[in-house]
Amino acid sequence: MVTKVYLGLGTNLGNKEENLTRAIELLSLALGPCMACSTFIETEPWGFESSNGFLNCAAAFDTELSPHELLDATEHIERELGRTLKSEDGNYHDRIIDIDILLYGNEIVKSDRLTIPHPLMHKRDFVLEPLAAIAPDAIHPLLRKSIGKLLEELRPSSINR
Ligand code: ADP
Ligand code: MG
Repeated sequence: MVTKVYLGLGTNLGNKEENLTRAIELLSLALGPCMACSTFIETEPWGFESSNGFLNCAAAFDTELSPHELLDATEHIERELGRTLKSEDGNYHDRIIDIDILLYGNEIVKSDRLTIPHPLMHKRDFVLEPLAAIAPDAIHPLLRKSIGKLLEELRPSSINR
């Protein structure tokens, strides 16, 4: 069975365009073709101080992998691209690449390693803005609102932009 998944990607070290492009390429090799990808948007560091700005995007894939197999695949690609540190207890670091699983169909997943929908996605402009560009009508299965609606609620001015 194939499930549509939405991933959020971010980088704030090195050649950021290349990091995102390479990550999408490696994801396509592991999962099959990228079904949609947002443009890359420049954003400010969130949750920690850094002078290195971020480049973010969102991408859609159709996958037969289970949620945990998908996490194994995305973590493997993060390591392949040279990521070393993991964030722990809300301590964030500069990173070459971060790949987060935002939505996995309309499934709700909760384990030690994995929470889907990604627990902070609805609070993060840098996640919702690129995601809304490719999936404005996708529904957050816990909040039962569309991504477009969540972005509008987070950033009311976005409706006029
Ligand atoms: P962050 O993305 O918050 O900066 P990391 O990428 O370092 O943090 O991930 C920290 C941990 O978050 C990972 O070890 C992973 O097991 C866990 N995690 C929980 N839910 C998700 C998700 N939906 N997508 C990606 N990682 C997740
Ligand atoms: Mg992550």
